[in-house]
Amino acid sequence: MIELKSPGEIDAMRAAGLVVAEALTAMRERAAVGVSLLELDDVARQVLHEAGAGSSFLDYHPAFAPTPFPGVICASVNDVVVHGIPDRYRLREGDLVGLDFGAHLDGWHGDSAISFVVGRADPRDARMIETAERALAAGIAAAVPGARLGDVSAAVGAIARAGGYGIPGDFGGHGIGREMHESPGVPNEGRAGRGLRLLPGMAIAIEPMLHRGGGDGYYEAADGWALRTVDGSRAAHVEHSIAITEDGPVVLTARRPPAAPPRS
Ligand code: MG
Ligand code: MG
Repeated sequence: MIELKSPGEIDAMRAAGLVVAEALTAMRERAAVGVSLLELDDVARQVLHEAGAGSSFLDYHPAFAPTPFPGVICASVNDVVVHGIPDRYRLREGDLVGLDFGAHLDGWHGDSAISFVVGRADPRDARMIETAERALAAGIAAAVPGARLGDVSAAVGAIARAGGYGIPGDFGGHGIGREMHESPGVPNEGRAGRGLRLLPGMAIAIEPMLHRGGGDGYYEAADGWALRTVDGSRAAHVEHSIAITEDGPVVLTARRPPAAPPRS
């Protein structure tokens, strides 16, 4: 069943989404050569604490995983597509980092992810991240009332494939609200004009996952969580939670633009 959120509930989801946005911004500012993934996890825990919010990820234990998730962030470096467990690994020059973060506030969840390169970027990584962001923007733009879920998936997949990127088939976005993962699933490829009709009050997370190898293969790492590309190619993952409203899509996890520098 898909629960339609009222405008007031969408406002409450935006409040949760702002906590997510703040944590991602704070982690992005902290990430640098020599900083460990656990230190980034600590940054996110601090944001949760200050906001009085809870983690959507900590102790999450889906059927596929052997253990509850131990962090508040997923930190997925280089050939890890998603679901990387934050550990003592210290970031190195040129690492491609995906940070995925979920929080709940007053009973509503937000979920968002960013990808970036630490230090000097391989232009191929920069292009893949830029393509993932364009795919996400296209998916969001397609999420208008009356459209079909397949329009969103097709928009994401078309941009990823046009760039020559692989797409891990079994993972994608999802409904979001009182739970982090709700119906419907939001695949990263699909057929325009097909699937669920989008209605005002629906909230979904759209999350393109691209990798530089042309194939779609991935495997589960020994920890049972991290998904790695079979060919070892690097992957990028970006995500926003959005609400479909009468006026079009609203990005619930939009990050505030950086404050303008003071004029001298
Ligand atoms: Mg996420
Ligand atoms: Mg998600």
